[in-house]
Amino acid sequence: MKAVGLLSGGLDSTLALKLVLEQGIEVVAFNMVTAFCNCTPRDASCSAARTAVRQLGIDLKVVNATEEYLPIVENPKHGHGSGMNPCLDCRILMFGKAKEYMEEIGASFIVTGEVLGQRPMSQRRDAMRVIERESGLDGYIVRPLCAGVMKPTVPEREGWIDREKLLSITGRGRKEQISLAEELEVYDYPCPAGGCLLTDKVFSERVRDLIRHKGGLEIEDVRLLKAGRHFRLSPRAKAAVGRTEAENALLEQRILPTDRVLKLVDIEGPLTVVRGDPSTADLELAASIAVRYSKARTESLAGVVCRDGTGNVLHELTVAAIDDEVLAPMRIGGVT
Ligand code: SF4
Repeated sequence: MKAVGLLSGGLDSTLALKLVLEQGIEVVAFNMVTAFCNCTPRDASCSAARTAVRQLGIDLKVVNATEEYLPIVENPKHGHGSGMNPCLDCRILMFGKAKEYMEEIGASFIVTGEVLGQRPMSQRRDAMRVIERESGLDGYIVRPLCAGVMKPTVPEREGWIDREKLLSITGRGRKEQISLAEELEVYDYPCPAGGCLLTDKVFSERVRDLIRHKGGLEIEDVRLLKAGRHFRLSPRAKAAVGRTEAENALLEQRILPTDRVLKLVDIEGPLTVVRGDPSTADLELAASIAVRYSKARTESLAGVVCRDGTGNVLHELTVAAIDDEVLAPMRIGGVT
C-alpha cells in the first residue's frame, strides 16, 4: 500500500506521515511551493520539507504551482483570509496536485497533518469537506492526527490503514503533538522564514497595489515584491528601494530589461528599481527617494544615474531628498 503525504516540514505533517509509516505503509512526501513561500528560492524545494524527509527516510516530490496559483490569489472562489491568503482555494489546488501525483505513482490515498479546528480558515469541518470535494478526493484524505473525530475514510473502511491506531486531536493546542513527537522521536522543522507571505499585512498590501494598477499578477512582479521598500510613484510606475546590501543584491537579480535602475553617483545609497512606464517626473521622484535613503540625505542636491535594465546609462538626474511628508502616502503597505 502506498500513500502520498502532504509535508510542510512542520510538526503536524511530519507526525502524520510518521504515524502512517509506522503502520508499514509506503509514503512519498509531497510539497507544493509557490512564489509566495517566504523561504523558497526560485524552483527550489522548501528547506523545512527537505529536512523532514531526511528524518523520515522517505522521498520528496516538489511541485512549483506559481503559474496556476496567481489567478487564484487575484480572485479566489472562496475568498481571502485576513491578508491576501486564499487558504481554501490554495488547499484545493494543493490537494488537486497531490491527487495527480498519487495517480501518477499508483498510490491509493492522501495523508495530511491537518487537525480539526486548528486553523480558522482551512481546518474547519465544513472547509475540509469543501476541499475534499473540490479536489476530487472525497473519502481519500486520511488525517492521522484527528481521524478519530472525522468520518471514516475509504482507506480506513477498506482496512488499508488501521483506524484504531490513528488519533483524535482537535483544536489549536500543541501539547498532544509535542508529547507524541517526543514519543516518536520526531522533530519540528518549521519554515525558518515564517511560511506564507500572503498572510503578511504589508506584503498583502503590495499584492493589492499590483492588482489595482496592473490588473493582475505576474511572476516577475511578485518576485520584486519580496525585497526592499516599495513606493507607488504614479498609476503607471512604482519603485523598489533596497534597505540593505543584501536587499540591493536581491533587487539586482530581479531587474528586467524594461526596468529603470537608479544609483547615486559616488555616494553610498540604495539600488532603486523602477518598474512600469515611468514619466520623467516619476523618475525624478524615484531619484529623490533614493537620495532620501542614502548618505546624501542632508545634501542640498545629489547626482543619480539612471540606467535601463540591461545596464545602459540613459541619463543623470540631480535632485534633493524627498520630504518625508510627501513620501509617506507613496509607501505601499505602510512603514517598512
Ligand atoms: S497560509 Fe498561505 S500557503 Fe497556507 S493555505 Fe493559506 S494561502 Fe496557502
